[in-house]
Amino acid sequence: MAVLKLGTHMSIAGGVSKAIDRAASIQSNAVQVFTKNNRQWSGPPIDEEDVERWREQLPAQGVMYAVSHASYLINLASPDPTIWEKSIRAHKDELQRAHIYGIPHVVLHPGAHTGSGEEAGIARIATALNTIHAQTPDCTDTLTLLELMAGQGTCLGKSFGQLRRIIEQVEDPSRVAVCVDTCHAFAAGYELRTAEGYAAMMAEIAAEIGLDKVKCWHFNDSKGKLDSRLDRHWHIGEGEIGLQGFRFILNDLRWDGVPMLLETPKEDDLFDDIANLARLCALVEDKTRVPPGLLVGQSKSSEE
Ligand SMILES: [Zn+2]
Ligand SMILES: [Zn+2]
Repeated sequence: MAVLKLGTHMSIAGGVSKAIDRAASIQSNAVQVFTKNNRQWSGPPIDEEDVERWREQLPAQGVMYAVSHASYLINLASPDPTIWEKSIRAHKDELQRAHIYGIPHVVLHPGAHTGSGEEAGIARIATALNTIHAQTPDCTDTLTLLELMAGQGTCLGKSFGQLRRIIEQVEDPSRVAVCVDTCHAFAAGYELRTAEGYAAMMAEIAAEIGLDKVKCWHFNDSKGKLDSRLDRHWHIGEGEIGLQGFRFILNDLRWDGVPMLLETPKEDDLFDDIANLARLCALVEDKTRVPPGLLVGQSKSSEE
């Protein structure tokens, strides 16, 4: 049994490596970053000094896991050739940037078919990934994690079956895996709040893609209701999922070693991150699994 890898999405203001300092400042041992501005198609050239600092500071500050999130602009399912090709270039760049930093996973929203249909969209995503893989033979140690989506509009990836259909068409499936976002899962109709609902979701993950294909969790509560298709992240325990859903996942040893990252609202002071992480740690039954720094923070706050 391992210590939980718990952290949050951190700002890269001042350099990608600055996210490590932010993660360590709240005693977390995992971090998610953008490796460039996530609302732009292309980023600045790689800053070699920042890469060096990243590679040195990650172990030095006790951060055990880092994942990057690809740009929100990328749509590998697009039927529009211009957007599709731009998206291929952009995701290839995301993989290469992550690879240079030694980041093992890049979370990607699979894409939206924008009217061309599910089948066409899925084929488009797989073809794009195959093209990117062929162009990045040196990046096999950085995987694309297809994120489970809430199912808003024509967005693909709202079920583990849909994710499986994408992966099936990827020529080298070892280069893709999955990230499960709790808010998206709930909004897409997965009932995380009950033992039966959680067991059913687990059975579906096992049957469709296999539990070992899930490389990372996004831990977000949901402002939208079950099956609402609304992607609205909210503070842990304060949304429609509530604490119980997180309790199931945190104490299920089948997820031992799989990192959990929050993408909940916050200010620069990171107080909300601290509170949300403390709430999660309080749900962990075996306290030896709580990252040491977070355990200290927790006992402190309960004493006060
Ligand atoms: Zn995402
Ligand atoms: Zn989301």
